[in-house]
Amino acid sequence: MNSKSFFVKSYGCQMNFYDSEKITSILENKGMTEKEEINHADVVIFNTCNIRDKAAHKVYSDIGRVTKLSKDKTIAVVGCVAQAENSEMFNKNNNIDIVLGPQSYHLLPQMINDSEKNKEKLINTDFIINEKFDYINEEKKSKGVSSAITIQEGCDKFCSFCVVPFTRGPEYSRHFNDIKLEAESVSARGASEIILLGQNVNAYNYSYKGKNHDLTHLINLISEINEVKRIRYTTSHPINMSEELIKLHSENNKLMPFLHLPVQSGSDQILKKMNRKYSSYDYRKIIEKLKKYNPNIEISSDFIIGYPGETEKDFDETLKLVEEIKFTQSYSFIYSERPGTKSASEEDEISSKVKKERLSVLQEKLKDIQLEYNKSFYDKSVKVLVENQSISNPRYFFGRTPFMQSVYLESDRVKIGEEMDVKITSCNHKSLYGIA
Ligand code: SF4
Repeated sequence: MNSKSFFVKSYGCQMNFYDSEKITSILENKGMTEKEEINHADVVIFNTCNIRDKAAHKVYSDIGRVTKLSKDKTIAVVGCVAQAENSEMFNKNNNIDIVLGPQSYHLLPQMINDSEKNKEKLINTDFIINEKFDYINEEKKSKGVSSAITIQEGCDKFCSFCVVPFTRGPEYSRHFNDIKLEAESVSARGASEIILLGQNVNAYNYSYKGKNHDLTHLINLISEINEVKRIRYTTSHPINMSEELIKLHSENNKLMPFLHLPVQSGSDQILKKMNRKYSSYDYRKIIEKLKKYNPNIEISSDFIIGYPGETEKDFDETLKLVEEIKFTQSYSFIYSERPGTKSASEEDEISSKVKKERLSVLQEKLKDIQLEYNKSFYDKSVKVLVENQSISNPRYFFGRTPFMQSVYLESDRVKIGEEMDVKITSCNHKSLYGIA
């Protein structure tokens, strides 16, 4: 047992925040105490993300800030930056004590003990994925109305701009029974919504007794849990949108009518360069089928703007796709090169001014579409899952619609964790406001 205290700082995607909850559980199970403030903790863990360019720089500047506070803390860098930069991290900042890749968080308590006892720097960046999944079956202590559960890790797709296949390794799925047990456990503690997470979540495939069990099977299994009212899954790849999964959006009423399906670009030339393995026609066909089975379904996406070689015509094709599909939420970024990826060796001739202009045109369009969509809810009633209550005014609550819109509502009768009919009274492009 270790009586020390710790603080975890998370960067990046939802999977990283989920991993941080797991790290917290693993350390608490070994007797360590979580602190809410970094300066009160003996051990500081930076759970890093390498998807965006600035993330790695931010980690080093945060480590600098912590070591200014005190030189006595044990500093551990875990996650994707740790995996990508490996022992180079010790050269860049000598105050780092532990470097640990995303597959081996269960080793962290032992590494903290050994590093402190022997005053040595320790590193582990091996890919032992099945071992990790054995350990993440440990009890997760998080509470909340919406709970994320990792079901799949890694990626075999090798998009030319992305580091994930290198930092998270090949696609690997977790046993569906373990996932169901975790869903039962979090729902018994108050989770009404389960979000199934994976880098390629719809590539989920667990082979058991000679039979393949896919995401459709898993969603149906989880929907048997009475307390679970809503199920979502993210992030999906278009090439793994099977006919069964598409159909399930009309067959399973706990599966929400909202899908995050990154397209990245509307241009076939750019999609090919990105190695996305589908064309804009394929993407349109998937959306057409989804809407055929469930006309209410809404789609969100990711876009990369200014990928090397993107012409004005390529960009116009992206705008055309956005106008057609009418994505109701989206994330859009200017392309940034990640060391070690295929696209890092491509010549980037587009000026930063042009990239910024294109991003701003795209974001304006996405914002207009989102606002129009939100306005269509005005004066209507929508089912909202109430997630939390304002601390300063107990009459104000926050929740989400089935389509992932944020709703701020006023009421003296709603309960956290319940689905309520909320009358929408106003909106902006980001949120809806209403009364219940
Ligand atoms: S599908 Fe492409 S973007 Fe997504 S994790 Fe894999 S390589 Fe990265």
